[in-house]
Amino acid sequence: MTAPGFGAELFLGRLRTGLLTPPPGDPRRLGDADEQFLTRLREFCENKVDSHLIEREDRIPDQVIEGLKDLGAFAIKIPQEYGGLGLSGRCYLRALMLVNSTHSALGELLAAHQAIGLPQPLLLFGTDEQKRAFLPRCVHEISAFALTEPEIGNDPFRMHTTAVPDRSRDTYTLSGVKLWTTNGTIADLLVVMAMVPPAEDRPGGMTAFVVEADTPGVTVEHRSSFLGLRGLENGVIRLHDVAVPAANRIGEEGEGLTVALAAQETGRLSLPAVCAAAAKWSAKVAREWAGARVQWGRPIGEHDAVAGKLAYIAATAFALEAMVEISGGRADLGGDTALEAELAKLFASEHGWLVADELMQLRGGRGYETAESAAARGERGVPVERLLRDLRIGRIFDGSTEALRSFIADAVLTHHRTAADTTLDAPGSGEAPADYPVGSRVLAGHLLFVEQAARRIAGPFAEFARRPESELGTFQRHLGRLVDIGAELYAMSTACAYAEALGGTDDAPVRLADMFCRQARIRIAELFARLVANTDGHDRALARAVLAGDFTWLEEGVVDPSIDGPWIAEPKPGAAIGPDLRRRTVTSGVGASPDLTECKGADDGR
Ligand SMILES: Cc1cc2nc3c(=O)[nH]c(=O)nc-3n(C[C@H](O)[C@H](O)[C@H](O)COP(=O)(O)OP(=O)(O)OC[C@H]3O[C@@H](n4cnc5c(N)ncnc54)[C@H](O)[C@@H]3O)c2cc1C
Repeated sequence: MTAPGFGAELFLGRLRTGLLTPPPGDPRRLGDADEQFLTRLREFCENKVDSHLIEREDRIPDQVIEGLKDLGAFAIKIPQEYGGLGLSGRCYLRALMLVNSTHSALGELLAAHQAIGLPQPLLLFGTDEQKRAFLPRCVHEISAFALTEPEIGNDPFRMHTTAVPDRSRDTYTLSGVKLWTTNGTIADLLVVMAMVPPAEDRPGGMTAFVVEADTPGVTVEHRSSFLGLRGLENGVIRLHDVAVPAANRIGEEGEGLTVALAAQETGRLSLPAVCAAAAKWSAKVAREWAGARVQWGRPIGEHDAVAGKLAYIAATAFALEAMVEISGGRADLGGDTALEAELAKLFASEHGWLVADELMQLRGGRGYETAESAAARGERGVPVERLLRDLRIGRIFDGSTEALRSFIADAVLTHHRTAADTTLDAPGSGEAPADYPVGSRVLAGHLLFVEQAARRIAGPFAEFARRPESELGTFQRHLGRLVDIGAELYAMSTACAYAEALGGTDDAPVRLADMFCRQARIRIAELFARLVANTDGHDRALARAVLAGDFTWLEEGVVDPSIDGPWIAEPKPGAAIGPDLRRRTVTSGVGASPDLTECKGADDGR
């Protein structure tokens, strides 16, 4: 059994700062091969990508996709023995920061392939034959992960897609409709989740398969468009009597959810990296603009209300980078970092969004105007409205905020039940405040606060862990607030650890970490207060009345511009009736492998 990570210990009331310590040396600098790759990627993004063209045409040009393949950007973590670059997880996260700040659709293109697409499930669960067959293809072919269906959102158990085994032909026949598959409209390879029906000789259950996108019966029926993420290749994929070799099954029958969750867990730091990049860019724009824009006789940054926004954006950008770097470093060392990654995703997607919103406010009308419109009338085209549109999805996909709070609460309750059974140390017996490995007294003070607050949330969690699970439903928001406090504490801890690693007593990082911790402590105090003073019970009663239609009179006097149709489309089984909208990029299906010899790292088995 793997030792509990920092997050699990924190929720047990124990502060194990040693579990956050990054490797010695400057945490900003990665290995030589990592750095060389990132330099090439940066040059490519700056010189070969026109992000405004992607936005305007809602399409990533073929040559950009091919250029990224040639750089090895689709194979950053794929080991060299399979033709990949074999670089570190932190290098992958920094690559995402570079491409995502160029245009968000590029970040999604790479993350959907590497975080949830084929490489990750194969590396975790694939047989040797599967790895040899598919991983070299993942270097130059694009993959996608297809779980969602009209009936499936956060609840994967309402799956309609079936995989019926034919033992005589050693195949499965897949049928169903998959919704919102990112990369699905250009993918060469799909990871498809389907239900194997139970029978006398098999338990069946949700199972993962590798499906070649050009197999007869696979049709891209629709390309979806969204609030943001223009250029995203996302769509509806119909599978009708698709014959898939049994050798393409990943893991055993019934292990699909384990495969999906494990792949998601390792990829879950992708979104925090995207949010950190957004916050870092926001810090730059906010600083430049708030210094240049003069209103009422002073740069707006000197007005108190705007100064508050600048301080929040700068401190949060530091904390998000700290979270990604520290969590990413721990993930590279191996071990179980699932809970930390979930905390990072929850915190980063919520605060990334708030940062973007504050940036828009600070930019005033120019924040709401498109970059192209501003440029056309002779001003700098700063795509803040695009940032806001692109970031909003972070709170919804990859585990919605509400779902994540529940997953984390469940995991914490399980830790508490196990801790009680296995007589772990009593809650609160973490490192003594005097032992905090930080040179700064200011940061040590914040870590002392973290330890005390961690004990305060461990108590209620221990109490809930003793209750029957059937009683916990009505405490979803209460548990959610406890989880949010834990996420803030995790952010404070990583900010302190990162500031320490950046220079200990060096003024700038300590100052940012201190500022972040001060702001977080106020939010934590508010969350603690709302554990006691809230309207949860009244809200539940009112929500029941709303659902019962008691207040429909309130909805009168407005027009509903929705286009008519069912709330959720009924899955219609059968063959596709429309054309296949799959977009074939220059080399898709050709199988030409780029020569990545110059790009490769020292591959130490990561
Ligand atoms: C741009 C985009 C890209 C995507 N890419 C992919 C992809 O590559 N592959 C893929 O398989 N899917 C993909 N998805 C699907 C995505 O993962 C789902 O949208 C996400 O899981 C949420 O599901 P849903 O939209 O059906 O929301 P629902 O599950 O219907 O949730 C609706 C609301 O109810 C809340 N809610 C639901 N259940 C609970 C609960 N038990 N307790 C409290 N609140 C609850 C949710 O938090 C949310 O606020 C993508 C979606 C989008 C929009």
